[in-house]
Amino acid sequence: MIESLLIANRGEIARRIIRTAKRLGIRTIAVHSDIDATMPFVREADEAMPIGPAAARDSYLRQDRILEAARKTGAEAIHPGYGFLSENAEFAEAVIAAGLIWVGAPPAAIRAMGLKDAAKQRMIDAGVPVTPGYLGEDQDPVRLQREADAIGYPVLIKAVAGGGGKGMRRVERVEDFAAALASCQREAASSFGDDRVLIEKYIPSPRHIEVQVFGDSQGNVVHLFERDCSLQRRHQKVIEEAPAPGMDAETREAVCQAAVKAARSVNYVGAGTIEFIADASEGLRADRIWFMEMNTRLQVEHPVTEAITGQDLVEWQLRIASGEPLPLKQDQLSIDGWAMEARLYAENPSNGFLPSMGRLGHLQLPETVRIDSGVERGDEVTSHYDPMIAKLISHGKTRRDAAQKLGKAAANVEVWPVRTNAAFLARTLRHPDFLSGAVDTAFIERHVNELVPALDPAETVLQVAASALLPKQSGNVWTALTGFRLNAANDRRVTVEVNEKPYLVEVTDPRPAGRCEKGVLFLEGEAWAFGPRRAGHAGGGTGASDGAIIAPMPGSVIAVSVAEGDSVKRGQPLIVIEAMKMEQTLNAPFDGVVAELKAAKGSQVVEGSLLARIEGGE
Ligand code: ADP
Repeated sequence: MIESLLIANRGEIARRIIRTAKRLGIRTIAVHSDIDATMPFVREADEAMPIGPAAARDSYLRQDRILEAARKTGAEAIHPGYGFLSENAEFAEAVIAAGLIWVGAPPAAIRAMGLKDAAKQRMIDAGVPVTPGYLGEDQDPVRLQREADAIGYPVLIKAVAGGGGKGMRRVERVEDFAAALASCQREAASSFGDDRVLIEKYIPSPRHIEVQVFGDSQGNVVHLFERDCSLQRRHQKVIEEAPAPGMDAETREAVCQAAVKAARSVNYVGAGTIEFIADASEGLRADRIWFMEMNTRLQVEHPVTEAITGQDLVEWQLRIASGEPLPLKQDQLSIDGWAMEARLYAENPSNGFLPSMGRLGHLQLPETVRIDSGVERGDEVTSHYDPMIAKLISHGKTRRDAAQKLGKAAANVEVWPVRTNAAFLARTLRHPDFLSGAVDTAFIERHVNELVPALDPAETVLQVAASALLPKQSGNVWTALTGFRLNAANDRRVTVEVNEKPYLVEVTDPRPAGRCEKGVLFLEGEAWAFGPRRAGHAGGGTGASDGAIIAPMPGSVIAVSVAEGDSVKRGQPLIVIEAMKMEQTLNAPFDGVVAELKAAKGSQVVEGSLLARIEGGE
């Protein structure tokens, strides 16, 4: 067995790997960027080495520095986690060339599966069913258009080098193809340095089904059943589960065997995932599931597989990398119950899912489910890395049981002042259509209005806030509570400010449950700043209503659609900024005039900087 392990990653996955390594008695070495020096994964490792500044390209992507850290600390092996260098064949080769053990996929397999078109061709050759489409040897737009027409609309244009949901365009009509192709090629060139595309039939009622596979260096391959990752937003996974709802034994056997075949065809060793797309318009059927791509690493959502199989997949990786055979044979593996994972993000669903950065002043995660997290109270969520705060993983006897546990856990998340998607997750997990198993990749889009909490507080929020304030008034009516009515019949009325807006609330019984701490109310995954009405406050809100358009995150200005002096209408788009793969449109808060315009197209802005000021409102 490996005796010492360097983890070339950060955050929750670094911690996750350290946990298993410690249990196995392996010495752990963390490498970290400067701003990560005090993070939990650095403290928890036996040793730690700084490898550069915050930007990933200067630290976590610096192959030379990571190799040097391994040499200096005498590490015997390197685990790349997921993301960063985990699917970088060159790095894998460099690790092996340095005489170290690479706890990842063989470089040849990474290469074979790295580009979507080559991977699909290989799978066709291996007899694995692939999504119908055109693999694009000839990239002439006229030819591509002809192929798309032949496939039949809707089609999906995909960058061959794409990943992470980027570089994809769905095209509904023949006349939209040329423009979508050009836009996809532009994005592919700028994001992946490769503008080649392939075209696929857009699968109706698509469900994302993936199979966990493991190979050992003796040539054995097993699968650890499927996961369903259909709950996605903008092609990014939000909730994952195992097994897949509605999967019968015959279909499971077909898709899992196809995955094993795919892994064997590239002589796979270690942990890998074969992703399939299923046409679920008539339920899951063996003849309607097609290979999409292979991820040659451990996946973010591996814990749901661990929960239903009772196995530790990081332990499997470490044993296999040490040269041991697979810990279990296929017939020793079985599915126990149901597991679900929700990704808790630092983002604000009520505000276009904009990332929310800053210090996690308050962070309390439920103890009723498994939590894989990279941060603790007081840590910072920055724009340098993925804004995931934690993964919440439940395990139950049935799907409903797992969903119930996870929904409750999400509702009990308390984070402040960073905003999270906890309430959105709780609502999704409790949605009747989700509970009935009616999931596909458009689920969130279809139900977004029911799933995203409103910007303004609901009556229940006001009730909890008002009742939290009520007891405080006894004997102190005149001083403490401006706005509190003395009239006996109205002694349950109180004016509260929630998010700086005043509301007159009549407290009713029974009061809804919620938890208040230091002027913040936590209810059903949402967090609200509240307090008594401030004396002299004119009401009507502050913040945005002063007309200042502030950069909500660091990023680059990609469009400015107004000029100084322009009249604008409330809600009119003014500026678009892009950060962390997300575009955010900033709108006029009220009717008025652009009094000041600081943002220029193409410029970089820091969080909190003034981009424009609107005058003449309210
Ligand atoms: P990436 O590598 O960027 O993650 P994938 O090829 O894995 O891209 O696709 C990401 C998601 O896009 C899938 O999970 C699925 O939701 C959707 N998708 C991909 N191909 C198709 C298709 N042919 N039809 C419908 N949806 C698709």
